[in-house]
Amino acid sequence: MKKLRTSSYLNQVDIGNGTTLLYNGSSLCIDLVPTEYARQLADGNDLSFLMPEEQQHLVNRGHLTPLSAKRELEEFRKLVRLILDKRAKLDAKHQFANLCFILTYNCNLACGYCYQKSLAEKTAVASMSGEFVDRFFSDYFPQLFPKKPKQLLITLFGGEPLLPGNREAITRILAFAKKRPSVRISVATNATTLPEMADLIGPEKGRIQSVQVTLDGDRSLHDKNRVAVSGKPTFDATIAAVRELADLQVHVSLRVHIHQGKLESARELIDYLEQEKLLGHPRVSVYFSPINTFDSDMNSPAESELFSRMFQDVAAKTNRPPSNLDYMNRFLDMQEKKILPKVRYCGAGGDNFCIVDPAGDLYGCYEEAGHRDRRIGSLANGQVKFRALKDSYSRRNLLNLPECIRCSAALFCGGGCPSEARLQKGSMFTSHCHQNKAFIDETLKAFFLRKEVKP
Ligand code: SF4
Ligand code: SF4
Repeated sequence: MKKLRTSSYLNQVDIGNGTTLLYNGSSLCIDLVPTEYARQLADGNDLSFLMPEEQQHLVNRGHLTPLSAKRELEEFRKLVRLILDKRAKLDAKHQFANLCFILTYNCNLACGYCYQKSLAEKTAVASMSGEFVDRFFSDYFPQLFPKKPKQLLITLFGGEPLLPGNREAITRILAFAKKRPSVRISVATNATTLPEMADLIGPEKGRIQSVQVTLDGDRSLHDKNRVAVSGKPTFDATIAAVRELADLQVHVSLRVHIHQGKLESARELIDYLEQEKLLGHPRVSVYFSPINTFDSDMNSPAESELFSRMFQDVAAKTNRPPSNLDYMNRFLDMQEKKILPKVRYCGAGGDNFCIVDPAGDLYGCYEEAGHRDRRIGSLANGQVKFRALKDSYSRRNLLNLPECIRCSAALFCGGGCPSEARLQKGSMFTSHCHQNKAFIDETLKAFFLRKEVKP
């Protein structure tokens, strides 16, 4: 047999009890091995601890390879190209589309870290009108989505989308959805205006059927950061709203911000949610979202350990990893390459994803909405006009990310957030690792453990 080496795309995650999951970022094969084996494989210096048939098995699974690092990289590029082609064919069918309405840049809160803070004063149109929505669906929607998507998710976003002044626009969007079985509506809200807007929310067609609410940490951190314009704290009102939403029979997704150096606060919040019977509630799910300034490289070993424990604890208590990486579960089930992994990070620039704001500007990214120099297009005089930025976004895939194409987790990650990569490194054609690898590892581990405890 040719001299073997450990694959450049081998990853591993410690499962406990002396076992480790090997998962290969090129072959996508996943195997459970003794941790000591995994350590020696990762070390890669001496493979003589393996019997010849074990070596052959690991070659078949892709964890060992006879290829040089250069040849393996070439083969990986070919694989990414193949996946891109397949994805393009699927996308052309417009099976699934995501449309986001920024109803206003105004907000009733004044959160310390809000990236949209100054936008409300700068925008010419304060909020989306009912007529705008009707004209959008009659004139522009067919141009944006010429092949009617089989499923359309409409997200209401802001500023604060559930401000009472947005009622007319929301009502028209709900009327559009009510007539079409394939359309679902969700909202990302601070939920503080829920008492006035609750009649628009419910499990039936033609209502808002799922709601995302943000919590910033335990009461003290949340109330320090997420305050009303008047300065009033919002933690208790937010928790009350989450309860009311669950009573309205809709799905509530709790986005828990993870701040650098404040993991204890997230832990306190999780304990509080458990005590309040919201953790594990059948209509409430929790996911962690590290805020943009979070950098896992800055975590101490104790913080990494705390994060891992908290992640697995929530996964065990809710039967779902708190990561929004549900596709990782399908890798575990997969015997052959039946699913298409990630070759880009998000939908920005894709034909199946679009954000529209009250001024009729189109954006590819939530964080860039309202920054007119970052528009990907606009709606005017009955015509959709795209700008060059849309194309730049659509070219942002693993093949155009030199660091990512060499990354062992590339097909699980997709290259990180392009917007943050641009802000931090000056170009969207750079990686933005953030906490992606830690989330991938923890999610895979949680799904694996969940399968293990099932009979
Ligand atoms: S570029 Fe980043 S912030 Fe924007 S939509 Fe994509 S992942 Fe989200
Ligand atoms: S962003 Fe980082 S973790 Fe993601 S593929 Fe690129 S190098 Fe890997």
